[in-house]
Amino acid sequence: MIEQAIQDRVSALEERIVAACRRAGRPRDQVRLLPVSKTKPGSALAEAMECGFRRFGENRVQEIVAKQAYLPEAEFALIGHLQTNKAAKAAELAVEFQALDSLRVAAALDRKLQTLGRSLDVLVEVNTSGEDSKFGLAPEQVMEFCGQLKDFDSLNPIGLMTIAMPSTDEEVVGACFDQLAELRNRLRAEAVASSSWDELSMGMSNDFELAIAHGSTCIRVGTAIFGSRPAPMAV
Ligand SMILES: *Cc1c(COP(=O)(O)O)cnc(C)c1O
Repeated sequence: MIEQAIQDRVSALEERIVAACRRAGRPRDQVRLLPVSKTKPGSALAEAMECGFRRFGENRVQEIVAKQAYLPEAEFALIGHLQTNKAAKAAELAVEFQALDSLRVAAALDRKLQTLGRSLDVLVEVNTSGEDSKFGLAPEQVMEFCGQLKDFDSLNPIGLMTIAMPSTDEEVVGACFDQLAELRNRLRAEAVASSSWDELSMGMSNDFELAIAHGSTCIRVGTAIFGSRPAPMAV
């Protein structure tokens, strides 16, 4: 049964997280596990909720709309690129936005949040792999960009997010994680935008153990919980 499969995968995953934390000499509660449910049906999320999850990572606003309607008690972290014209909807529905990389989107989110009278936790996405296909700021843009976030009263910057290079070479992947951690240390040292930049969102199904070793505070795990996804359609 599918339900059993999700529960089993969550248990196996939890054991690996605990082991990775132990190897890194870090307490388990320093690492948040964000289940990534993109492309998966509401029924899969309902099963994951029975394992104790409440917040899910999604990368499309439309999918959050549908799943929120199906599961009113769930909450959603938007972890994918956001277009300005979807920002108002995202401000309404997401409790966290992990892929901020444009001031236009920041302004659009802030405007809507002001009218809603609430704030939104945001993480700034950094392209640490240097791949053209990736969203996120170039590392050298991060300090200035983060400084400008203080102009948006309703955005609460809590950290940085990255997708590492898809590689089996641990040095290459680890270098991406180290770069994110270094940027975070600089932001922290300078108290940029009056935030302590606590969150380092890095690590996915294939590289979360290494990310934990490099200081991750939030791993975003899809496949290892929900099973594989269909390959994205060519557009
Ligand atoms: C899909 C996705 C994930 C999860 O990827 P898996 O390899 O399935 O664990 C994590 N982060 C982001 C930004 C994603 O889009």
